[in-house]
Amino acid sequence: MATTGDSIDRCLDCIRQRVAQAVKLRDSSAGTVGRPVKLVAASKSQPAEAIIEAYRAGQRIFAENYIQEMCHKSADPVVISSCPDIEWRLIGHIQSNKVNQVLRVDRLVAIETIDSIKIAQTLEKALTARNKTLEAMVQINSGEEDVKTGVLPSDVIELVRYVRDECPHLKLTGLMTIGRFGHDWTTGTNPDFLTFIDSRNNICETLDIPLDSLELSFGMTADFEQAIALGSTQVRVGTAIFGAR
Ligand SMILES: *Cc1c(COP(=O)(O)O)cnc(C)c1O
Repeated sequence: MATTGDSIDRCLDCIRQRVAQAVKLRDSSAGTVGRPVKLVAASKSQPAEAIIEAYRAGQRIFAENYIQEMCHKSADPVVISSCPDIEWRLIGHIQSNKVNQVLRVDRLVAIETIDSIKIAQTLEKALTARNKTLEAMVQINSGEEDVKTGVLPSDVIELVRYVRDECPHLKLTGLMTIGRFGHDWTTGTNPDFLTFIDSRNNICETLDIPLDSLELSFGMTADFEQAIALGSTQVRVGTAIFGAR
């Protein structure tokens, strides 16, 4: 339950309106024209009841950071019966030894945190064995921060090429990043977002990928409107929907 006292459905309503407004205001820079923006509910540390409440309010796409937590919630019998059309996305780091665990999640649609050739290779092998495909996003460590996972901008082209060319069971749908926290927007655009867009432009040009064929997953509670203004097609919002963790 939101600490502000607002119910999850009221918060969701408000966020949807803010997303729609930001979409209306965004400029027509390359690759964003006419593209819808997906709202992903980042539900880490929220109980199953909160997920069910958001689902009843129309939310279908949920993302988790920790594999064990996602396994637990997605297997909850009440979640399964209450949320038949739920979609799960992984937005936290994944290590090779967790691949089999994550692939057991029912209704897992995407892994947004592919950040090395090794993890792509491991996933590809496991998916091949299961005769399954999965959507994949490459996570870029735009700020080159040590504490964050993600591939460095200097290595991203090689990784995207690998996923596209060598991993037929991973359907490359886009790129993901987390902007640095606490950025003061009055001083200008978050530099991580600019680096991210630069990387996208570079990737598309080098690998001959149409700009508008890659989703861009960036923007969270603190900055989703700015992200949409810069071309985000998928925002991941937690706190503003569910309240403080
Ligand atoms: C927690 C988290 C979010 C949502 O963050 P809020 O600030 O609560 O909206 C989005 N993306 C990732 C990767 C996260 O870990």
